Amino acid sequence: MRVRFWGTRGSLPVSLTSRDLRDRLARALVAANGRDLDTVEKAQAFAEQHLEFSLTHTFGGHSSCVEIEPATTHEEYFVCDMGSGARPFGAHVLARQGGRPATVNIFMSHMHWDHIMGFPFFGPAYVRGTRIRIYGCHEALEQAFRRQQEPPSFPVPFKVLGASIEFVRMTPGETREVSGVKVTPQLQHHSGDSYGFRFETGGKSVVYTTDSEHKLEQRSETERIVGFFREADLVIFDAMYSLADAVSVKADWGHSSNVVGVELCQMARVRKLALFHHEPANDDRAVERILRETQRLEELTRDAHRLEVVAAYDGLEIDL
Ligand SMILES: [Zn+2]
Ligand SMILES: [Zn+2]
Repeated sequence: MRVRFWGTRGSLPVSLTSRDLRDRLARALVAANGRDLDTVEKAQAFAEQHLEFSLTHTFGGHSSCVEIEPATTHEEYFVCDMGSGARPFGAHVLARQGGRPATVNIFMSHMHWDHIMGFPFFGPAYVRGTRIRIYGCHEALEQAFRRQQEPPSFPVPFKVLGASIEFVRMTPGETREVSGVKVTPQLQHHSGDSYGFRFETGGKSVVYTTDSEHKLEQRSETERIVGFFREADLVIFDAMYSLADAVSVKADWGHSSNVVGVELCQMARVRKLALFHHEPANDDRAVERILRETQRLEELTRDAHRLEVVAAYDGLEIDL
């Protein structure tokens, strides 16, 4: 199974500013001082091997959109949420299909704007013959998609899209088999409710859990979530806030922290944790610092089980 991150930023898409770029370029030039980098290839190799991650990459960018590619079937697409990352994901689908209509299964955590805003820019939705199934647990699932394309918000109404679009209601806790992939939704604590999804196929499992606040003092709740995460190969986790924020000023804002992510994943014996839904106010250095701190925390609290921690960024691919 392969997981491709198309959008990893929380709440609002962000991009690098000119000032960020200039600063990076200056720091890279200083780091390269005295080296013989007279070709692009040499410079690229140097950047890859010697420059810090936050100089050569950027976290976030697009809002939530994560593709799950099962090893067993390449016929259909599976994706979580339609944040602004849905635009490049759609371009990827169209390029890969080479003119053949696709079948796309979309799993919606909830319909807050940052999770649906990419759909009107999702290219395959405009292609006749494409089949799109939008899965979710909310009653207002279909209404939310239709409404964002109504005037005066968008020029193309939902009803003129060329694809055949079907909405499929799922029941929390009930596993459904979707074209060979077992998918289980789980209720999460968030304004207006959100749902995590556990995907299981070919002996591997991925949990996509974003926009979810965890109150670890509620034991039964913790047990429910640990059961949902149990021995997953990868958990994609809402780590928008620091623990201090999550338990003080931003308590009840419906998001979680890197610290809680480590704790839950350790309890559940998860193999890999991907920090996700990055706070828009955090620049790349801040996200990288949070990642280092989280990795250090995991080391300090580790028993016999090792949890690998990464921070998701647009373009990251994880093979399981
Ligand atoms: Zn969100
Ligand atoms: Zn939300």
